[in-house]
Amino acid sequence: MSDQNMYIDEMDLGYIHLLKGVNRESVKGLLDLCTIQDLQPEEILLSPARSNRTVYLLLSGQLRVHLHSIDTDPIALLDPGESVGEMSTIDHQMTSAFVVANKPCKILAMDEDILWSLVQSSHDAACNLLFILVKRLRHTDAVIASYAEIGDQYEQYGSVDALTGLHNRHWLDNMLKRLCARSSTDNKPLSLIMIDIDHFKEFNDHFGHLYGDHVLYSVARTISDLLRPTEIIARYGGDEFIVLLPDLDITVAKMVAERLHRGVMERIPAMPDGRNIPHPTISVGVAEMQTGQTPEMLIDAADKALYRAKDMGRNCIAV
Ligand code: GH3
Ligand code: MG
Repeated sequence: MSDQNMYIDEMDLGYIHLLKGVNRESVKGLLDLCTIQDLQPEEILLSPARSNRTVYLLLSGQLRVHLHSIDTDPIALLDPGESVGEMSTIDHQMTSAFVVANKPCKILAMDEDILWSLVQSSHDAACNLLFILVKRLRHTDAVIASYAEIGDQYEQYGSVDALTGLHNRHWLDNMLKRLCARSSTDNKPLSLIMIDIDHFKEFNDHFGHLYGDHVLYSVARTISDLLRPTEIIARYGGDEFIVLLPDLDITVAKMVAERLHRGVMERIPAMPDGRNIPHPTISVGVAEMQTGQTPEMLIDAADKALYRAKDMGRNCIAV
C-alpha cells in the first residue's frame, strides 16, 4: 500500500457517498488532511479483530468484503463512492471483516478526528453518514439471514472469542485446515506461533479472576495490534494464543515471534487503578509446516517448541 498526500481529483470526490451534497469548498481544509492510498489487487486493507480509526473512501477500483477468511465467498463488493471502516472508527470495537482490493484501487483515508470534524461542520455529511450506517445494518441483517438459511456452521458455534474479540479455536481449526491444504498445493511455507502467558494462574490467584481477564485482554490486544494484515491470530484456549503465518518460513516466523515477544514486554498497560503488579511475560513456540504434516501435527510441533521455551525458564522463544 502506498500513501500519497497528493491533490485529490474533484471528479473522484463527486462519487463519494459521504460527501453527497456537501459544499466541498467549506470542508476543503479537512479533505486536505486526508491521504490518498493506492492498493494493488489482492492487497488487504482491513482484517478482522483489529482496532481501526480510519474511514476508507473508495475513489476508484473495487473492494471485496469477506467475513471469515479471504478464501470464502465475498459478502459484498464495494464500488467507487462507497466506504469501509466507519463502524470500527465510530464505536472503537474491533473490525469485523477482511477488506481486500479486487482491482487496483485509489482510496481516500480519513482519520477519526477528520470524520467527526466533517460531521460537525456539515449537516449533509452527518445525514450521509447515517444513511451509510443504516445501509450497512440492512446488509448485515441480510447476510445473517442468508447464513441462517443455509445453517452455516459459524451460526452454530460462533467464531469470535467473547473476552478478547479474537477469533476462537473453532474458527482457527477451520482456517488452519484451509491454509495447510493451500500450502501443500502451492508448495509455499506456512508457519505457526503458539504463545502462552507465563504463570498466568498467579494473576488469577493473587489479584482475582477479573484482573486475570484484564491481563488476557491486554495481551491479546497488544499482540493483535502488532500483527500485519496477513498474520492471523486466534485465542486457542485459556491463556494460549496461536498466530498463523501464511507464506512465511521458520526464519521469518521467528522474527515475527521476536517482534511479538518484545511488544508484549514494552506495551502492556498498567491496571486502570494503578496497582503495582507484575508485568505479564509470554513464552513462545514457533514451527513451520513440514511436507506431509497435518494441521494437528503442526500445532503439536509448535506446542512442543512452546514447552521447550517454558523449560528454558519462560519469557523466551523456542523453535
Ligand atoms: P505456565 O507458565 O506454565 O503457562 O503457567 P500458567 O499458570 O500460565 O499455566 P496454567 O495452565 O496452570 O494456568 C492457566 C490458567 O488460566 C488456569 C485457568 O484457570 C486460567 N484461565 C483460563 N481461561 C481463563 C479466563 O478466561 N479468564 C481467567 N481469568 N483465567 C482463565
Ligand atoms: Mg500459561
